Amino acid sequence: MFKLEKMNLSIKSIVYAGCFFSLISIASTCGTQRPLIKAPSVYEFSQVEVLTVLASDDMEGREVGKVGGLKAADFIQSEMTNIGLVPKGENGFFFQDFNFKPISVSPHGTADGIGLGQSKVVTVNGRNVVSGIDNGAAHTIVIGAHYDHLGYGNEFSLFKGDSAIHNGADDNASGVVAMLKLANTITSQSEKFNAYNYLFIAFSGEEYGLIGSNHFVKNPTIDLTKVSCMLNFDMVGRLKEDNALAVYGNGTSPVWTDIVNEANQGKFKLVFEESGVGPSDHTSFYLADMPVLHFFTGQHEDYHKPSDDVEKINFEGLKSVTGFVEDIVLALQRLEKLEFTKTKDSSREDMSFKVTLGVVPDYMFTEGGMRIDGVSEGRPAAAAGMQKGDIVIKMGEFSVNDMMGYMECLGKFSEGETTKVIVKRGEEEVEIDVTWD
Ligand SMILES: [Zn+2]
Repeated sequence: MFKLEKMNLSIKSIVYAGCFFSLISIASTCGTQRPLIKAPSVYEFSQVEVLTVLASDDMEGREVGKVGGLKAADFIQSEMTNIGLVPKGENGFFFQDFNFKPISVSPHGTADGIGLGQSKVVTVNGRNVVSGIDNGAAHTIVIGAHYDHLGYGNEFSLFKGDSAIHNGADDNASGVVAMLKLANTITSQSEKFNAYNYLFIAFSGEEYGLIGSNHFVKNPTIDLTKVSCMLNFDMVGRLKEDNALAVYGNGTSPVWTDIVNEANQGKFKLVFEESGVGPSDHTSFYLADMPVLHFFTGQHEDYHKPSDDVEKINFEGLKSVTGFVEDIVLALQRLEKLEFTKTKDSSREDMSFKVTLGVVPDYMFTEGGMRIDGVSEGRPAAAAGMQKGDIVIKMGEFSVNDMMGYMECLGKFSEGETTKVIVKRGEEEVEIDVTWD
């Protein structure tokens, strides 16, 4: 049961993987930080209109560190303001800026989340857009979606033709408008949703490896120990005729399966996957021990191609997915902060490598070696006792100087073999025998 005394207080009228690297540092100089502007009492958020703008050529594929990405951040900020959300980024503003040095990877290499390629040392500036609703509640529900995409077709593109704008209507303008619509519903029906505070984050740098969400979790603008759960929309605009909807991460809290099934009432053919580790931003929150769910309407032939356009969005489907998640948030109102459970993580690693450790590398780490940001249960690293925070510096006879070195090393070992791996754990160097599976 929820806390009534908190609720009464809160009934206030809130009505409301790249070939192209940015050669110029623009993120810090472009765009306008805007403090909260009082919104009109009712704002009718339109998923069709906002998605159409986000997926228009004007946004140039919303690539992190590029003009299009900054334009999209400005536009999302203005929509958050219209909805009546308060800024929750850095220093009382909506933005949270970060930078990173991406490692150039090939589009298909995804072992441990990243592939082979050449290291570059260009800094890319990214920007998360962070907003919220304060209900004076004890806990917060985080709802997120990445807004960045592939610009004119960086190395993560699967398109073979000439440079062309990748509008990313499904990936992930669809998720952004699902999140914003949910925010609009929660502000306009505040009396139904006031057992929690809310944080709405539009992440950037997702396509490069969950960079924006990783940055947020390591540099949070709210107290993460007060977060009940994180809900992530990534690619929810292509609901197919069979009404199949993937719900990933249901193993991250014992309550998820019941809550999700109750909200569904047979509307969707739900495809559950327990693992909290997946190919999107919820992974960053799961690795920081928060229950997560990721909603996804499935792969399609336009994935990471210029043809992922607004004409192919199933807006009725998008609306029903949004409504479904709204029902989940509603069901959460009667629960206290959710219990977190670790999941047995399924492998999403590329078959082109014979073996992998089963770890999530820290993509932001550039200080020598490969730092482990998460260990998948039941895989070689976990079995050998490797830990989050360990820095792999040597595997067998091979030194590991960076992520690339790590990936190259993986090709040298085979299933069943045991290899001596040296990791830096704090000041110590620890020798660990890893048996590849
Ligand atoms: Zn994508």
